[in-house]
Amino acid sequence: MNKSSEWIALEKKYYVPVVRRQPVVIVRGKGSWVWDADGKEYLDLIGGWAVNSLGHCHPVITQAITEQATTLVQTSNQFYTVPQILLAQLLVEHSCLDRVFFGNSAAEANEGALKLARKYGKQKRGGAYEVITAHHSFHGRTLTTLAATGQPHYQEPFTPLPPGFAHVSYNDVDAIMNATSDKTVAVMLEPIQGEGGVNVPADDYLQRVRAWCDKQGLLLILDEVQTGMGRLGSLFGYQEYGVEPDVMTLAKGLGCGVPIGAFLSKEFCTVLGPGDHGSTFGGNPLVTAAAYAGSKYLIDNNIPAYVKQMEKHLFARLHELKARFSFITEVRGKGLLAAIEFDSDIAGKVLTHANASGVLLNAVKPSALRFMPPLTITAEEIDEGIGRLEKVLKEI
Ligand code: PLP
Repeated sequence: MNKSSEWIALEKKYYVPVVRRQPVVIVRGKGSWVWDADGKEYLDLIGGWAVNSLGHCHPVITQAITEQATTLVQTSNQFYTVPQILLAQLLVEHSCLDRVFFGNSAAEANEGALKLARKYGKQKRGGAYEVITAHHSFHGRTLTTLAATGQPHYQEPFTPLPPGFAHVSYNDVDAIMNATSDKTVAVMLEPIQGEGGVNVPADDYLQRVRAWCDKQGLLLILDEVQTGMGRLGSLFGYQEYGVEPDVMTLAKGLGCGVPIGAFLSKEFCTVLGPGDHGSTFGGNPLVTAAAYAGSKYLIDNNIPAYVKQMEKHLFARLHELKARFSFITEVRGKGLLAAIEFDSDIAGKVLTHANASGVLLNAVKPSALRFMPPLTITAEEIDEGIGRLEKVLKEI
């Protein structure tokens, strides 16, 4: 087999250079650990960008994929398939939403939610179409979800973007009120902004937004792509904040590693009918069998409660680091979604050293590191990861 350096040279030759990759070629994973093409072991505190909820190659996921791969992989949505129906039932029965549609990614889930909002606006709100989203939000990279995303640096190369979005400050209810007009149909928010820097709003923010949406007849769409499926210590992030969305999107942890996205909606706003939306692969038997097995395991074993225990442990260790290193200015997050902020742009340098020390981290901003390990990570593994990071912080 090629060495890491040889694989990296091939990638540089053949792949579209859109991702700033770390120079690590991962070939194998087990639980919270992965190995590179040279046999080096790493503790994975990134979890496939908050995707590998049950760690790498969890037996439940491996078995579900294997069994389904030898049974039925793809049929098109022209037919009913059992794993899709089982997953839909599981998600609806454990959430406040009534219906679900499966796509292949988060961006597609959000795209579907936005289409639903557009049609709802046409049918029920006199043609209103505008959706209020937040600065520093991240909703995907298709043209419409990019337009929804409140980060101009991602948008600029691709303007003009589809119209219909108003961006306001996150954690600012007045800004939403001021941006609301006759054209507004929905407010779309992440319960905690993940990609934008792990930004945690005030405890009552979502409740106040919910109250405003109720008063104005707006849909509240929660993008739970990163916060859903146990990440914050409840099955869904909205449960942490005591609100119910009208529409919710999921992806990432839903598939425990297989590519799947979903939008869920309450019955009153499920205005989509035959022909309005669809997908060739969306919700196919292979991915829904894996997502069903993973989600059922997560629920049956109350992994969200375990996340709450590990949250205490992770945050205690991160606060210890902050006490030890004066250049760490903030520790923030919830559940197993956390960030530490530095007083300067050293996150890239920390990553380089962390790779060498065998711990995988994510620089969510030039000045901040994000932690989103498997939800099954143990206290000992957290200690090991923080220990390795501490060594790196001492070095630099
Ligand atoms: N929404 C949120 C909250 C995300 O964090 C992300 C990715 O980080 C996305 C949407 C887009 O995900 P995908 O790359 O699967 O389309």
